[in-house]
Amino acid sequence: MNAITPAVPLTNDIAERWRAEESLRLSEARYRRLFETAQDGILVLDAETGRVLDANPFMQVLLGYSLEEFLGRKLWEIGPFKGTEASKTVFAELQEKDRLHYEGLPLESHDGRRVEVEFVSNAFLVDERRVIQCNLRDITERKRLERLAIEKLEELARSNSELEQFAHVASHDLQEPLRAVASCVQLLQKRYAGQLDARADEFILHAVQATKRMQTLINDLLLYSRVGTQMRSFGLADAAVVLEQALASLAVALSESGTTVTHGPLPTVNADPSQLAQVFQNLIGNAIKFRGAQPSVIAIGAERRANEWLFSVSDNGIGIEEQYFERIFRVFQRLHTRRQYEGTGIGLAICKKVVERHGGRLWIESQVGKGSTFYFTIPETLQPSEVH
Ligand code: ADP
Repeated sequence: MNAITPAVPLTNDIAERWRAEESLRLSEARYRRLFETAQDGILVLDAETGRVLDANPFMQVLLGYSLEEFLGRKLWEIGPFKGTEASKTVFAELQEKDRLHYEGLPLESHDGRRVEVEFVSNAFLVDERRVIQCNLRDITERKRLERLAIEKLEELARSNSELEQFAHVASHDLQEPLRAVASCVQLLQKRYAGQLDARADEFILHAVQATKRMQTLINDLLLYSRVGTQMRSFGLADAAVVLEQALASLAVALSESGTTVTHGPLPTVNADPSQLAQVFQNLIGNAIKFRGAQPSVIAIGAERRANEWLFSVSDNGIGIEEQYFERIFRVFQRLHTRRQYEGTGIGLAICKKVVERHGGRLWIESQVGKGSTFYFTIPETLQPSEVH
């Protein structure tokens, strides 16, 4: 027994050490596998000299250079980084900072392709030696799509503004000849009504009505296009004062319909006061027009959200089916005939344009027969892109 006793702890010791080494080997193998199978390029640099200590196989996939062309070379001696002062500057920065991130570093692959990479570096110590690990992710496609999206948006903004100019010029220039036609047919009606036959009277009447309708449509179109073309005059607008103005313009309709309007506390917002008044006027005007059988009640409210004010205009009117929630905001889109309810279908389109011009959103919640609530938001501060 005595002879083998000392051997037991010794054996345990060896086994312990073996196990520790084995676990280290395993862990290294695991990390090596991660390194070798990573779908990002990984370079490990000596922080002192800038030489590549290690490069993973994906580097070759990414840039088309063989691993031999990376290993042992200094960063700025390797193909895609070669000779550029920028690479030396990048390395100087890498040496200085523990972590570095470039969003779109442009590189050229072995076969001349332009590859944009997201570059992230981390510096750390390995056996007293400072090394820098650089991860390179190919974001060429993402960047291409981003550029495409920006181009498309710019194109859209350009064509929108052209269309707006066109609508403005066309509706403005159409007013003049239409005025001439309208006054001629009105004169015809005044001087010759009853002197021709009954059919002629009927034709003249139709012509008079149609020119009036056309004048209304053109005026509405002009009003709509002006929202985008007129100069911006944003300032601090007291929503309570703005609402009072809108209610004053609707005084006759309000009293004739016996509508009750209530409102809670209203904020001062960053807005164009006359355009905001137009929004209130159109929404309240609609609430009066599309009232139900019971006495009409309209409630206006405002609630503070994270970076915006949420306004609401609720009524107890006829309501709208959900399938029309999008359509009603389009130009000249209506759900009723002119005989049922007067209007051209431009009111909500104007509201939408004004609200969006302020950086906000406009939408509806409604139930047929119960009423509708129109919501719109006005951001607390204007986005820089909205200030021209
Ligand atoms: P208009 O009032 O000239 O018809 P709008 O653009 O203001 O044009 O409204 C479009 C359509 O949306 C209206 O024709 C109506 O069908 C519907 N609508 C708008 N506001 C309301 C409301 N408060 N209640 C019910 N329907 C509404």
